[in-house]
Amino acid sequence: MHAPPSKLPSVGTTIFSVMSALAAEHEAINLSQGFPDFDCDSHLFSLVQQAMHAGHNQYAPMPGVPILRERIAEMTSELYGAAYDPEQEITITAGATAALFAAISAVVHPGDEVIVLEPAYDSYVPVITLCGGTPVFVRLTWPEYGIDWQALRRALSSRTRMIILNSPHNPTAATLSAHDLQKLDELIHDTDILVLSDEVYEHIIFDGRQHASVARNENLRQRAFVVSSFGKTFHTTGWKVGYCLAPAELMREFRKVHQFLTFSVATPLQHAFAGYLQDENRYLELGRFYQAKRDLFLDMMRASRFRPLACCGTYFQSFDYSAISEEDDQSMARRVTQEWGVAAIPVSAFYHDGTDNRVLRFCFAKSDETLERAAERLCRI
Ligand code: PMP
Ligand code: GLN
Repeated sequence: MHAPPSKLPSVGTTIFSVMSALAAEHEAINLSQGFPDFDCDSHLFSLVQQAMHAGHNQYAPMPGVPILRERIAEMTSELYGAAYDPEQEITITAGATAALFAAISAVVHPGDEVIVLEPAYDSYVPVITLCGGTPVFVRLTWPEYGIDWQALRRALSSRTRMIILNSPHNPTAATLSAHDLQKLDELIHDTDILVLSDEVYEHIIFDGRQHASVARNENLRQRAFVVSSFGKTFHTTGWKVGYCLAPAELMREFRKVHQFLTFSVATPLQHAFAGYLQDENRYLELGRFYQAKRDLFLDMMRASRFRPLACCGTYFQSFDYSAISEEDDQSMARRVTQEWGVAAIPVSAFYHDGTDNRVLRFCFAKSDETLERAAERLCRI
């Protein structure tokens, strides 16, 4: 028997798994894959336990536990002034990953084009490919990582089905502004192009910036899937609970995929998040919490030869290391892990053609003590 031809011949194991494995092998401090090294609030554990003891242990309704969808609707309305109907326009998913998968595969047909702004989080393109779509890459400007509007305009065609946005942006930590969204609206207003907006870091935004959620822009919102994740917001990446917001017409198609992809998501976790969302400070304070970590890390790294790039949101800080080495970022990431004991992500992994600006991404969702130990090692390089 011959193995079937691969549907994703150019896809390997994700850089996150590769670097986390290398970090473990060399007992390095792992600032590569994005996850906190501290626990979530223990009150959240109690809420999960309460839900389990209350008997919430069987399948949840396919679109999600109603009280959780209501809480998300309230939060979205308060934060972004957008009214999503919890019945028809909100679905709970197995992390943002499953939401992204369902959104893309619900609407992308063979031959469709999807605009991907690069560098891009690595889960978008394989899904486009599986659907028979073609990713059309538009590079963000360097080193600001902003949208090149001329390049974007040139990339649009009669086959463009969707544009994928991500703000705050992984891996670059750049953010879009309300003005960017306005420009995008003008650009696609007279088309049928859809928007998929990955907003998993929506609450992790710094220096007084306001998150430019697509939900705030009424015209874009009408053609958009907006995706978020409790993994980032409540320090529970391993629980894999996320959600998608979309107008009813789009959500109908989304749910057709979701019901056969996951059907429903861990019931006690959904009840726990519904309870936890009652106190808005739990997400409103997240920006300040991570900004203090960013500032601590940056302050300690000032003694190093790494040059920091702007970090407007997310829990990633990137550094240009060209003052230290000429080597490519993949080898640099490996060498820093093996020889200096700190693992990071090479940003070239987020470009389809491996564009290498000699930048490493470090995750600062770590205890202050971990950041101190890491910075101390990096300053010796
Ligand atoms: N989008 C972005 C930009 C991410 O960084 C991540 C992962 N952290 C995801 C989506 C996936 O989120 P989840 O872990 O909830 O599936
Ligand atoms: N989003 C996380 C990161 O950017 C990793 C997620 C994953 O490992 N799949 O580091």
